[in-house]
Amino acid sequence: MDRGSKPAVLVTGGAGYIGAHTAKALDEQGFLPVVYDNLSSGFREAVRWGPFIHGDLRDRAALGEAIAAYDVSAVIHFAGLIEVGRSTKKPDLFWDINVAGTTNLLTVMRERGVGRLVFSSSAAVYGQGGRSTQESITESAEKAPSSPYGDTKLAAEWMIAAQCRAYGLTAVALRYFNAAGADPSGLIGEAHEPETHLLPLAIAAALGDGPALTVFGQDFQTPDGTCLRDYIHVTDLAAAHVAALRVDLPPGAFEAVNVGTGEGQSVSQVVAAVGRAVGAPVPHSVGPRREGDPASLVADPRRARELLGWRANHSSLEEIVADALRWERNPRYGAGLRQVRHSIRSEVPV
Ligand code: UDP
Repeated sequence: MDRGSKPAVLVTGGAGYIGAHTAKALDEQGFLPVVYDNLSSGFREAVRWGPFIHGDLRDRAALGEAIAAYDVSAVIHFAGLIEVGRSTKKPDLFWDINVAGTTNLLTVMRERGVGRLVFSSSAAVYGQGGRSTQESITESAEKAPSSPYGDTKLAAEWMIAAQCRAYGLTAVALRYFNAAGADPSGLIGEAHEPETHLLPLAIAAALGDGPALTVFGQDFQTPDGTCLRDYIHVTDLAAAHVAALRVDLPPGAFEAVNVGTGEGQSVSQVVAAVGRAVGAPVPHSVGPRREGDPASLVADPRRARELLGWRANHSSLEEIVADALRWERNPRYGAGLRQVRHSIRSEVPV
């Protein structure tokens, strides 16, 4: 690995789903991704494009050492908890890791003179609020998170923005809509444990690798009654991080940018697309709504185009489903990786 000539970027949470895809994109674009991850939900196997440091966000000394050891010039901060449902049960944990963990990281960045941050934010900062389900969301839309998860992402954004103003940090918060799909290589993909996301659960159900899917509610104010989401291919999402890292912004600037396609897909449409791709229907039933789920989250992606020169290139539902299916069908990865995750964690020295 050629460390000398490549600018090093600390990637917290780089062993996770979006982090690993971004590490690959960074490597392809001439950066050295230095992954910092506590493997609480990431996989050591997903760290393939740069060094790995096993560390926790709440450990300032370890963060500082990682930054110093690789002469890190920028940070992409993915590490955090993401499950909306769990956040309603354990809000304190979400605040501790997503907000206090981010405070720690900012403190260490300031101490070490790292002036550039890209932050994993979420469309969950918007919630449904007073918006109609037909409206796409601009960055200035009302912020009404409908879960503690969304609260923590919004709070972290505010804190980052304040530190940009106070200390001259430059930061871009990327508000992800629904990340989905997998790298076309089939080497990395989505493998949460437990898995809560629609697409992998629908694929597992269709393949007979998992239980029948429960559709969470069919009584929303949407065309077919199921929730609308803006599914964005993880490869497109990874490219947005590299663009955010490179964009020319002055010290003190903070920008929040939606990363989505502008197109909404309903749960029923996703279920139908998976059935077509697998060649077998997705066994499913309709259950009650899931707590904290807004009816519709669809991005207005114009700001990303204007500021970052970024647009989604691989995010048709067909391409997303095809790439996710390739990953899930690979017995060494996908579902297989989920099953053996505990043995991987104990086998790999960290
Ligand atoms: N969903 C569902 N059944 C599931 C998982 C998800 O009906 O088992 C729905 C969920 O209510 C939401 C959409 O699928 O409308 C996307 O959910 P996911 O958890 O994938 O992402 P989120 O929108 O929560 O970030």
